[in-house]
Amino acid sequence: MNVKNSILILAIAGVSLMGMSSNVVAQSAITPEPVSLSLKEGNFLIDPQTALSFPDEDERITALSKYLNSHIKKISGYTLMTSPASGKKIEFKLLANEANLGEEGYKLRVEPERLLISANSHKGLFYGLQSLFQTLPAVRTNAPLSVPCMEVIDYPRIGWRGMMLDVSRHFYPVEAIKEVIDLLALYKMNVFHWHLCDNEGWRLEIKKYPKLTSVGAWRQEVYGSVFYAKDPSINLNDTYLYGGYYTQEEAKEVVRYAMERNITVIPEIEMPGHSGAALAAYPQFSCNRKVQPTPNSTVVNGVTGNTHVNFEYCAGNDSSFLFLQDILGEVMAIFPSEYIHIGGDEVEKVHWSKCKLCQMRIKKEKLKNVDELQSYFIKRMEKFLIANNKKLLGWDEILEGGLAPSATVMSWRGEKGGVRAAKMKHEVIMSPSNPLYFNRYQAGPDGEPHAAKHSINTLERVYNYNPFPDELKADDIAFIKGCQFAIWTEFIPSLEHLEYMLLPRLPAISEALWTPLKNKDFGRFTHKLNQWHYRAWQQKGIRFHQGSFKK
Ligand SMILES: [Zn+2]
Repeated sequence: MNVKNSILILAIAGVSLMGMSSNVVAQSAITPEPVSLSLKEGNFLIDPQTALSFPDEDERITALSKYLNSHIKKISGYTLMTSPASGKKIEFKLLANEANLGEEGYKLRVEPERLLISANSHKGLFYGLQSLFQTLPAVRTNAPLSVPCMEVIDYPRIGWRGMMLDVSRHFYPVEAIKEVIDLLALYKMNVFHWHLCDNEGWRLEIKKYPKLTSVGAWRQEVYGSVFYAKDPSINLNDTYLYGGYYTQEEAKEVVRYAMERNITVIPEIEMPGHSGAALAAYPQFSCNRKVQPTPNSTVVNGVTGNTHVNFEYCAGNDSSFLFLQDILGEVMAIFPSEYIHIGGDEVEKVHWSKCKLCQMRIKKEKLKNVDELQSYFIKRMEKFLIANNKKLLGWDEILEGGLAPSATVMSWRGEKGGVRAAKMKHEVIMSPSNPLYFNRYQAGPDGEPHAAKHSINTLERVYNYNPFPDELKADDIAFIKGCQFAIWTEFIPSLEHLEYMLLPRLPAISEALWTPLKNKDFGRFTHKLNQWHYRAWQQKGIRFHQGSFKK
C-alpha cells in the first residue's frame, strides 16, 4: 500500500470519505501540527493480537497503558494484551533526558510490526498518545484500526498553554468540566484556570464559611434575561432560583482527573472586587455592611435601581483579610498548583472612597489614593501566599498603584499590561481579550447565538495569534511564560453552547502555542479540521461552529 492510500485509511475513520479521495493531501490530521512528521509506507494494525509493552515498575506508565487500553476498547471493543508477546506491539519507553524533547516532548515511531512512543517523562508519553488517537477513529467502529507508518518528533513551543473558564455567571457540573478537560488534553493544553467565584455566584464549598455556598451559590435570576440585556418586555419580578457549586471532594476529583491528563488546575478566588456573591453571604466584610441578595444578571455595572451593589471587600477592615486567608487556606489544601489566581480586576472603589475604615487605612499606610489601597490589598494577600509557598497570579489591573513584588500578571486588556510587567521583570501570561476571549463572536454576528460584541475573534485571528510582542527585547520576552484563552459565560447557559464557543477555536490556539512558527499553515490546519476533527466531534455529539474562514 502506498503512502497516499494509507492516509486515506487515516482519513476515513471508519466512515465515508465525503468526496475527498481524489484530492486528499498526504498528511496526518494530528493537531497541533508536530515539529516534524514524516509519513512512511505501510500501516500498523491494532487488533486483538496486538500486545502492549511498558516498563511495569512505573506506576504512572501503568496508568497510561490503562488509559490507552480503555480508549482502544471504547473505539473497537477489544482489549490489548499486556503480557509481552512476540509479534505486533505498542511500546512505551522512557528516555534518559533527551535534550530537544524537554519535559513534554515525545517521539512516535510507527512501523508495520511496532508502534513505539518514547519520551523523557510520562507527560510526553501522554502527548504521544493524543497524537496516536488523532490517527484513529474517534468512536466505536468495526473498521480496522489502522495507523499509517510514520515518524514524529514533537515538543511544544510555549510551556504554559491554558484556558480560563468562568463558572460563576453560569454553572457547569463536574461531568461537563471533565469533558472540557478531555478536549484540552486532546489538543495538548496544560493549564485549566477555574474562575470559581464572581458577583453572580460562589462555586466552591468552603467549610469554615458555609453561607458562601448556601447563600452565595444561588441567585434569583430573571426569566428570559441574558446578561446586560435591556429588554423592556422582561418582567424583573418574574424570577427563578439559579445556581450550584462544587463540593471540596468534587474539586479534588477535577484536580486528579486533570493531573492524569497533564493539566494543572489553577483556582481563581476573586478579590478585592467581583465579590458580590461572597458579600451577599457575609455582608460584614463590605464597606457599608448592607445585606444584599446575590447579584443577578439585571445588575448592570454594579448598579441596580439607584443603588451601588457591594462588589468589593472593605480594605480597611482587617477581618476581610482574615476571612480571605481562611478561604485561601482551604483552597490551597484542594489545589496543589504553584499559582493561586486572586483576580484583582475591575475594582470599582466607589465604596472605598466613602468608607471611614478604608480612608483610615489610606492615612495610616501613607497611601496616595484608592489605587494604592488596591495595591496594598494585593500586596498583603501576596505576603500570605508567599508564606504558604504559593505564587500570586492576577489580572493586569494589579499593576495599578504599584505591582506586588513577585506577582505574575495575566494581561487581558490587550498586551500593554503584559509588556509593562515583562519590562519590570515580572512573569506574564498573555490573554488579550482580542482575539483570545472565546465568549466573543467567532463569525456573524448574523446567524450566531448572542455573544460579546467587542471584537469578532475569528478562527484565523486566533490561529495567527503570537504571544511574544515585537516590541519586547529578548531579555524581556523570557518573562512571557505562556498564554491563555478565556471563556466568560454571561451568555453561555449550557455545555452545548460552551462547546460551540470553544470549537474549533481550541485547536487553533493549541497550534498557535505548540507548533513552531515555520510549520504553521492555516490552509493545512483547516484541511485537518475537515479531515478528522469535525467528524470526530460530530460522532461524539459535541456541538461546534462550522469554522469561519473570514479574517
Ligand atoms: Zn471600607
